[in-house]
Amino acid sequence: MKSKLSELKPIASIRNRNEFHCLWHSDKLKQIRTFENKLIGSSEADKFFIEGFCVPCDQPVSFLVDMQVGGRKTEKGWVPNWRERLECPVCKMNNRQRLITTLIKQLLSPEPGNTIYLMEQVTPTYNWVVNTFGEHNIIGSEYLGPEYEGGICINGVRHENIEKISFDNAELDFIISNDVFEHIPNPSTAFAECARSLKKGGIMLMTIPFHSGSDKSVIRARINNGKPEKLLPPVYHSNPVSPGSLVFTDFGWDVLNMIKESGFSDACIDAYASEAFGHLGGGQLIFSCVK
Ligand SMILES: [Zn+2]
Repeated sequence: MKSKLSELKPIASIRNRNEFHCLWHSDKLKQIRTFENKLIGSSEADKFFIEGFCVPCDQPVSFLVDMQVGGRKTEKGWVPNWRERLECPVCKMNNRQRLITTLIKQLLSPEPGNTIYLMEQVTPTYNWVVNTFGEHNIIGSEYLGPEYEGGICINGVRHENIEKISFDNAELDFIISNDVFEHIPNPSTAFAECARSLKKGGIMLMTIPFHSGSDKSVIRARINNGKPEKLLPPVYHSNPVSPGSLVFTDFGWDVLNMIKESGFSDACIDAYASEAFGHLGGGQLIFSCVK
């Protein structure tokens, strides 16, 4: 494989539940599922390797698939966590991380000077972007606590509250957000802040745990008198800078309208699947939002 193959395009751009249903039953996804089942069926051990091409590394590699991060056994064999595995031996990024870095590589202009904001800073994705695209203005942040002002740096880590980000209007070309919005008490406010900070035509790429079987988003928790109030049994996700982040929202299909009503001109869900680039797991979903 040559690196000129490294243009990764979505297999579908989805705007509603019916289009998602069509994708789910499409030949492309059936083909990917058959490939995945063959791999699982042919492996006796709890780990195996898949030959492919790592776009961030720009070279052929053997992606590692093992039982870590919630792989589970079934009567037919074991099922890996495809999204969190398929780890490249060189850059150590998994399926999800390689996909978003590939899309960043495709987004950034060959001309220097793009401003890109990642809602993460102590992660392999941020490190890769900073080390690879020194000619661009790369900004990352973490949420460090309610006591801090947006934009301040604590031990080299920048703090931002996404409901009140410290960027000027139209300062950013791109925003990258990986599994952040479900932890924000008022996601509409945060979407509006992102739209405000982007230039016209600027793009936000976002992943969230998406509940494709729900039309309406479910509020699991809210802020009451300055403290989180749990309306449903609490769910926490691990986080590089704190013991666990509470989930406030389970997003359903209404999130696309929520994004558009917050100041974006368009929002759709791009589905990616590629045997050659090690993007398995029945279609990886990336929300693509244009200011
Ligand atoms: Zn790699």
